[in-house]
Amino acid sequence: MRSFEANGRTYPLPSNPIAVICLDGCADEYLSTAIACGKMPRLAAMAREGYRGMVRGALPSFTNVNNSSIVTGVAPRVHGICGNFFLNPETGEEVMMNGPEFRRCGTLLTAAADAGRKVAFITAKEKLRTVLGDGVVERGGIVFSSEKVDEAKLATHGIDDATAIIGKPRPEIYSGDASIYVLEAGAALAEQGRADFLYLSTTDFMQHKFGPQAPEILDFHAKIDAAIGRLLDAGCVVALTADHGMNAKNDSAGNPKVIFVEWLLHGKFGKKLRVICPITDPYVVHHGALGSLVMVHLENPAIRSEVAEFLFAQSGITEVLTREQAVEKLELAPDRIGDLVILSGRDVVVGKSPEHHDLSVLKGGLRSHGGRYEEMVPLVISKPLTPELCRLAEGDPRNFDVFHFACHV
Ligand SMILES: [Zn+2]
Repeated sequence: MRSFEANGRTYPLPSNPIAVICLDGCADEYLSTAIACGKMPRLAAMAREGYRGMVRGALPSFTNVNNSSIVTGVAPRVHGICGNFFLNPETGEEVMMNGPEFRRCGTLLTAAADAGRKVAFITAKEKLRTVLGDGVVERGGIVFSSEKVDEAKLATHGIDDATAIIGKPRPEIYSGDASIYVLEAGAALAEQGRADFLYLSTTDFMQHKFGPQAPEILDFHAKIDAAIGRLLDAGCVVALTADHGMNAKNDSAGNPKVIFVEWLLHGKFGKKLRVICPITDPYVVHHGALGSLVMVHLENPAIRSEVAEFLFAQSGITEVLTREQAVEKLELAPDRIGDLVILSGRDVVVGKSPEHHDLSVLKGGLRSHGGRYEEMVPLVISKPLTPELCRLAEGDPRNFDVFHFACHV
């Protein structure tokens, strides 16, 4: 059997088209509720005839971190993307990792294209296209975002007239349509034989806004299911996972439960330390840059254990790891994280200071991610697992094994 290699892993070239879907922010309860309400009949059939289980994502449970892991097949320690932002140790500046130059290894998308696959990578957010889509178009593949689908050109995106091919105009980025469009675009490419190795990655706007029971999100999942059906009908093996889960982060009155870590530490230890919120991105309406993991950078390393002890004693903070521990236990790259890595509880977010976060954008309460409680995500595959894959699934399978699963079933 022919195969291709990427980052030390071997993937057999599948005999049929494959479509790997990363449903952004899709905690398993979204799927359970939608299936129970009869909104996802095609996904329910996949679970029945193929496989449905849970896989562990990478921490921090953020979008870029996990999408980077999924397209490389390796942990953040290897690919280096440990958040949207990091503090450059050489310059002392906060840097947004919005280009492929921050990634430390190649993707399996370019490897599959080199092996002759017709690769298509479609995302909702333009930032993911720029961070992860490098090299694909040069190898004859197609890469675009629904956010800027109308800017897609043959030379730069591998496709002209994308909206005409898909049959729909560009959707609004702050909408469920931005995600549905990604899957519909993938389905159109598969139906027309323009792609046979697809990675489709959505945005979590809807999941930040709505819990699993909301009629709006049930309607959203019904449309996602219809698009999955089109991919299946086009002959694709479909493998669906998520980058991270999503939890409400509010008190019983509906107000966000926030611990302002930098503000707290400045009060106790003085100003010679900084907190980085690596969830910060240009799409702040989603979460106000508040998630369940932050990095603490100290000017004076001698106070590290005192700071760690102080933070661990705070109600709502669940884990305080040193840089070395985070490298070992969270598989993070040592030069892209803080002296301390702080994780908060299921219903708690951690931030910088009250001035730094605009809570007014969070109408209707906060739902967010980033921490340990958004680490476990679903994996659904349209074909049954082989005995080898069953053993993998019974152990500690990862969301970034999804291409391994999809190529081996
Ligand atoms: Zn996400």
